[in-house]
Amino acid sequence: MLFDFHTHSFFSDGELSPIELIRRAHVNGYTVIGVTDHASMSNLDLIIYNVVKDCALAEKYWGIKAIPGVELTHVPAGYIDQAAGYAKKSGIKLVVVHGETIVEPVEPGTNCAALMSTYVDVIAHPGFISPEECSLAAKNNIFLELSARGGHSLSNGHVAQVALAKNAKLLVNSDAHAPKDLLTFDFARKVASGAGISTAQINDVLIENPKLLLKRINC
Ligand SMILES: [Zn+2]
Ligand SMILES: [Zn+2]
Repeated sequence: MLFDFHTHSFFSDGELSPIELIRRAHVNGYTVIGVTDHASMSNLDLIIYNVVKDCALAEKYWGIKAIPGVELTHVPAGYIDQAAGYAKKSGIKLVVVHGETIVEPVEPGTNCAALMSTYVDVIAHPGFISPEECSLAAKNNIFLELSARGGHSLSNGHVAQVALAKNAKLLVNSDAHAPKDLLTFDFARKVASGAGISTAQINDVLIENPKLLLKRINC
């Protein structure tokens, strides 16, 4: 089983249309793909209108679970809850928030605002997330990402260490922008191991936590 809850199509800065991205993921052996284009209030409706349709087609004809999502990106922290709520009420099933990665000037407080929203499911690349924020993630059943993407992945070791100490649930996502970025199970395992996830915990990160996330979003 291969799960990936964070990918991009050309409705933001990815290379492929949603349906081609899903097609390539399907051929790669994916069980589940979340299509989560960068979104703010300028393009949220465009994404909702377009991505939902390709996800439904792929699921109906190919059997891959394709989840229409968004990655709320550089949305002001004070507006994340409203934007996430709007997305969920408009047909988006998976809300990822572009967390406080160490390689971009994400507004401080973004991780915390996302973790307080009942509409947010995943914090992508949460950078130097604090132990308190990890406790909040555990309490609110929000999933924290170990990123397979260069740059964002530089803080994976920190994320894994504080998340595990506070029982927050971790996932590995590709953050794919091009076909070559899509995961294989073996590469996802290497990303988790590289972040310090032990052999005993790998199954949780790669299989069990993704299943719990599917339950959370009713997919
Ligand atoms: Zn991001
Ligand atoms: Zn992304």
